[in-house]
Amino acid sequence: MAHIVKVCTKETIEKMKKHYIKSIAAVTPNGAIFSAKSSGVTITAYKSGKVMFQGGDCENEAGIWNGGESAGKEVKKSSVSNHTYAPPSNVNALSFIGSDEAGTGDYFGPITVAAAFVDPSLIEKLRSLGVRDSKELNDKQITELARFLVDVVPFSLLILNNEKYNEVQRQGWTQGKMKAMLHEKAIQNLLKKLGDTKPKGILVDQFCEPGIYFRHTGTSGRRDVPIYFATKAESISIAVAAASIIARSAFLKHMNLLSEELGETVPKGAGSHVDQFAAEVIKKHGILSLEHFAKVHFANTEKAKKMK
Ligand code: MG
Repeated sequence: MAHIVKVCTKETIEKMKKHYIKSIAAVTPNGAIFSAKSSGVTITAYKSGKVMFQGGDCENEAGIWNGGESAGKEVKKSSVSNHTYAPPSNVNALSFIGSDEAGTGDYFGPITVAAAFVDPSLIEKLRSLGVRDSKELNDKQITELARFLVDVVPFSLLILNNEKYNEVQRQGWTQGKMKAMLHEKAIQNLLKKLGDTKPKGILVDQFCEPGIYFRHTGTSGRRDVPIYFATKAESISIAVAAASIIARSAFLKHMNLLSEELGETVPKGAGSHVDQFAAEVIKKHGILSLEHFAKVHFANTEKAKKMK
């Protein structure tokens, strides 16, 4: 079962307890402070500071608690190998579409999603140039590699700006749904672009259980080109690594644009430095300006308001 573990401060756990007070279970597991069930997700907070979100749209439920000290130390695990959509072990020997996103944990800036097609004949070249998990690369390397990749690799890139993000979020879309819709759209765009070239498969860097992905997108696993899901897929597939670099580079570019607009470097992430920066933006440009710069449902907004 998919689950997310967050490491939280005592303060955050107290807030969670209040938040879930009506759905707290009568029996608390060993070592736990409380256990609750909310919209299909079981939330268990442990004395160690770890909070486990399990089942259902656990990612979205955990996302409510993004921001402050609770963010950053996120450990994401999923049972990759025992679901039906685990990719073949020789994924890099096959022509594949990979897809990945950036910006989902950052308070400021858009969500960017890219799908990229890599033919096995290109793999050695991409590897030698340093195409790998974008989390292992610095911003400069990402920008340079992306510049090269967009010329040699067919891709589709989608950007969900903050206005649109906030609009669909208010309509009730979870971040999980936004991601699923963007991944699916990028994949479909790319398949169209490829025309008669049929990839052997599609690998999505997994952010939710396949069943939830299909439910969000109104699609199924029975497809012309088979679809696979794996967490940390950028470390097993060059196509996903290429997609992650393109997505990350687009995110960086948009962060630069937002920084230019504000005349200051907009911080990444969702930590307390971000609350501080958001408070300054409110002071200078008004609360409504955040619609354009930030994902306003993150906890950072409330924290920033209190700092005024
Ligand atoms: Mg990813």
